[in-house]
Amino acid sequence: MRALAASVLAACGLIASACGGAGSGGAATDQAAPATAGSRQEPSQGQTPPQETPAQEQSSGKQEPPKGKPLDGKVIVLDPGHNGNNYRRPDIINRPVDVLTEKKACDTTGTSTNSGYSEAAFTWDVSTRLTRILRERGATVKLTRSNNTGVGPCITQRAAIGNKAGADAALSIHADGAGPRDHGFHVIMPKKIGGPVDKVVAKSSRLGIDIRDAFRKGTGIPYSTYIGKNALDYRNDLGGLNLSTVPKVFIETGNMRNAGDAAKLSSPAFRQRIAVALANGLQHYLGT
Ligand SMILES: [Zn+2]
Repeated sequence: MRALAASVLAACGLIASACGGAGSGGAATDQAAPATAGSRQEPSQGQTPPQETPAQEQSSGKQEPPKGKPLDGKVIVLDPGHNGNNYRRPDIINRPVDVLTEKKACDTTGTSTNSGYSEAAFTWDVSTRLTRILRERGATVKLTRSNNTGVGPCITQRAAIGNKAGADAALSIHADGAGPRDHGFHVIMPKKIGGPVDKVVAKSSRLGIDIRDAFRKGTGIPYSTYIGKNALDYRNDLGGLNLSTVPKVFIETGNMRNAGDAAKLSSPAFRQRIAVALANGLQHYLGT
């Protein structure tokens, strides 16, 4: 079992170039949440009511809208890449699934840092932090998996969960396993494929740019040195994107095989910064 697991991991390390991203970090300034446009009460101007005006009359005026949270009414689906026990079940995760442009494996194990911190654990931790922040801001958040001790789901199912939820935005969180000198982050957006994703390609592109800008600003991690242009990459071979009918992007938050990126991604405090940055990007896209 052990040998098998190791060989699967090794194979996945190679495959994981599909999961690209690395980053060097900048100064660690705390990223504040964007100011929320509160519903301010206008002081009534002009006619100051004479003192004898009954209080009742004053309060019977226009009703103030209830004070809301910035993401009230928004549905966000988070997809923590891979799963903690994928490596134990190659029979399940290697099963081919149809992603419209080709057949791909149901899922992969993901990569890890050289010291053994797995991408699956990383994406689960960031997603948990991000969920908390988004819910505090009023959003309804759904996840494509509920822990880091399972297997799957397949990439087709991960897309279907976002579709079924009617998500206003969906985000798949990853870290890359590229060459040791490669670093920086990048965002992956869908391309038109003559399929259902076509209608959300434009919105996904806007989402991707908002996520990129917020991630750069909030984490200091630079644009990828090895994939995409200005940290933006467009692909038509990812099931999670091809099968999405809601605005969706992937982020490769850094390269786990690069020492500088790995140090950041391994830090709980830094992962909190990542989560705040991603929340700000989503909130910006959702226009609140
Ligand atoms: Zn990944």
